[in-house]
Amino acid sequence: MTKRNDTHESTEVPGDEGNPAPERGVNAALAELAASVRGFGAFQMNACVRCGLCADTCHIYRAEPDVANLPAMKASSITSVFRRYHTFLGKRLPGLVGARELTAERIDEIRDVVYGRCTSCGRCASNCALGVDLRHILQVGRRMCAVAGRIPEGLQRTVDNQLETGNQMAIPQEEFLSTTEWLSDDLKLEMGDDTLRIPVDEKGKRILYVINPREVKFFPLSLMAAAGVFHAAGESWTLSSKVFDVTNYGFFAGDEASARELVRRVAEEAGALGVEQIILSECGHGYRSFRWEGPRWLGREYAVPVSSVVELLDEYIECGRVQVDREKNAERVTLHDPCNLVRLGGLSEPQRRVLRKVTLDFVEMTPNRENNFCCGGGGGMLSMSEYGDRRVASGKVKADQIRATGAKIVATPCHNCADQLIELSKRYHLGVEIQAVVELVYNALC
Ligand code: SF4
Ligand code: SF4
Repeated sequence: MTKRNDTHESTEVPGDEGNPAPERGVNAALAELAASVRGFGAFQMNACVRCGLCADTCHIYRAEPDVANLPAMKASSITSVFRRYHTFLGKRLPGLVGARELTAERIDEIRDVVYGRCTSCGRCASNCALGVDLRHILQVGRRMCAVAGRIPEGLQRTVDNQLETGNQMAIPQEEFLSTTEWLSDDLKLEMGDDTLRIPVDEKGKRILYVINPREVKFFPLSLMAAAGVFHAAGESWTLSSKVFDVTNYGFFAGDEASARELVRRVAEEAGALGVEQIILSECGHGYRSFRWEGPRWLGREYAVPVSSVVELLDEYIECGRVQVDREKNAERVTLHDPCNLVRLGGLSEPQRRVLRKVTLDFVEMTPNRENNFCCGGGGGMLSMSEYGDRRVASGKVKADQIRATGAKIVATPCHNCADQLIELSKRYHLGVEIQAVVELVYNALC
């Protein structure tokens, strides 16, 4: 596997080792800021009137109503630097307009805000009457920290794992292969078909299925369920044993060079295997980063279409390619909308159509769809242990939403969200089971 920085531009100057020196980090961050504010970005940096109406839209502020958690206050850690370097008054009378110089210490303040007090969920942005995209501003902050070499350690380690081993959990290829083998054996028994196996590295299939490595390590039932549904549909598909990771922690980190490299590998593997379509497993940020950001990072469209597996499940059921029985999922089910899949990814209806067909008692939580609250586990929060307490506290908003539905099962098309929801169920005594959409479909197969 290619190592970090082997195939993309380094942000460090020649001779640098490890993180950039403080001045170099500051200069790199200022250059990133300048590049980010060209055009529409400059309007965003200037537009907030601090009315405070977005305060209650943020799950972090609602859980901990501290002024430091106000969305506009978080964004001001970046806009104040913008004013200092890019506005007339900020350059001449910085104290008058709250303009602040960028220093190494200020980069660390920005780091605590953009990674530790914001999950990039975008809910504040979609509720601002003036159209200020605070999420975009906070993302600029992540990119400034990334080029300055100040990505939080746990997040950086996950990005490095992905670049060095091919997947965020550093799962060896042998472990991946042995997992698919024993899952194949279990599926043969469950579905009563001796010919059944999970295809790996097979060329010329219709679909390349790209999964979250958690499905290999912790949630093999999700992968098994997908394989069972593909088998029932008579699908032509394969996994790749080398490039199987749908997640993209470069995207979370604000490290676009790494994000681009991760996307490039999946697109190339699809070409090498000669598939006609890439199907992404249930992963909010994996969907958004690969489907929507990837072509921009690569500077070209993909050679084959890309969809989420929930779109494929919807298609199977709508056209009768798989037969399902709602009675098999009799308990009350609700749906958590992952921010990157729904509000920021534009995919809200297929999973609902599927759940209405495969469950007997589906109820929406309130609010839902693009107005849904973040579960608190987004933005790479799960990989940054230093923010663990805040992550679980901010999930109280989601826990209250779930409890109000009376559901016994929470379906969510995102393994990152699933991890957080499992923790919330324990912490807030919700007594709910968390399932992927494909697991409920598999359970409903006739
Ligand atoms: S982002 Fe919009 S809603 Fe929030 S304080 Fe600024 S102007 Fe008001
Ligand atoms: S993007 Fe989400 S987490 Fe970040 S400030 Fe806005 S509402 Fe809060």
